[in-house]
Amino acid sequence: MFKFLKQIGRLGYDIAIDLGTKNTLVYVDKKGIVINEPSVVAINTKTTEILEIGFEAKKMVGKTPAHIQAIKPLVDGVISDFEITEKMLKHFINKVHGEGFSIFPRPRVIIGIPLDITEVEKKAVEDAAKSAGARKVFLIEEVMASALGAGLPVDSPRANMMVDIGGGTTDIAVISLGGVVSWKSLRIAGNEFDNNIIDYIRDKFNVLIGEQLAEKIKINLASVIPFEEDREMEIRGRDLTNGLPTAIIITDEQVREAIKKTVIKIIENIKLTLEETPPELVADIYEHGLYLSGGGALLYGLDKLIAKATKIPVIVIEDPLTSMVRGAGSLFSDEELLKKITSVLDL
Ligand code: ADP
Ligand code: MG
Repeated sequence: MFKFLKQIGRLGYDIAIDLGTKNTLVYVDKKGIVINEPSVVAINTKTTEILEIGFEAKKMVGKTPAHIQAIKPLVDGVISDFEITEKMLKHFINKVHGEGFSIFPRPRVIIGIPLDITEVEKKAVEDAAKSAGARKVFLIEEVMASALGAGLPVDSPRANMMVDIGGGTTDIAVISLGGVVSWKSLRIAGNEFDNNIIDYIRDKFNVLIGEQLAEKIKINLASVIPFEEDREMEIRGRDLTNGLPTAIIITDEQVREAIKKTVIKIIENIKLTLEETPPELVADIYEHGLYLSGGGALLYGLDKLIAKATKIPVIVIEDPLTSMVRGAGSLFSDEELLKKITSVLDL
């Protein structure tokens, strides 16, 4: 009986989903974040059977034998493999919502979309969520949801500037009165920093490393201004001169050098977006600041460097990797705002 009541409690909730290039998060209304796992699916290519989803699948990246493939079904913020995305969503939704027949309604789902997305890509997101079990799908721009997650008054005439640096894309947007006024979306973000590190180590040391290690180096050593004390890390890769494993020491200064060009591109585009924003709104932004979200917001010193380059105060959102899904989830307690700032393709 207790189990049955628990089931009732579990079913019928609305959920918000951050379907990121790098991580997928699921937020259940009145409960909070219940899933936060890498957007990776491992399949057996011989049988097309799904072997692992999320954390367990990520562990397999770069280590799979010929018949296993670790697939990242999202590229640059949009679905690149529909079938796998749908299966991944179904797996996560079932995990929180219970499988099989139920007399309770399937959940309403709010799902984040990047700024630079076509109608066809939007429809694919909606279809994936529907076939994964959603009753109704609301789409929201990820930057808008992140701004909500940061507690910003997105619905007021006061302009807010958001910069979300995720895995595949950097979305830059000025938000006012519940809409995006000016924006730019770049296909450079966290993954590009990782690639910069791979390239740098290959060019400087003639050593090849994989993307997982590059990400680890970034998280431990990357910064855009020097740390208070120097950092270094011993890493292992393949020496390209003889094909054998080798160990080298890499420093924070080298990583700063490696990622510099990508950081510059992001800052240049923030400036360009500001130039294209109406002056009254720019005045608001100067007063209230620019907000950073997404995993890239954690890059040490990035807030300070952007502030120096733009003369605008820069604030890193608290818990920047979860702000999108928290913000979207908060809309279930404000139906009016939900209707106003989300879009529903299929009425
Ligand atoms: P997405 O929404 O595209 O899934 P996220 O907002 O989850 O992306 O951010 C993931 C990116 O943030 C990855 O590239 C990851 O390496 C990067 N990241 C996570 N933590 C840090 C950190 N401490 N410093 C720099 N980058 C980080
Ligand atoms: Mg994101």
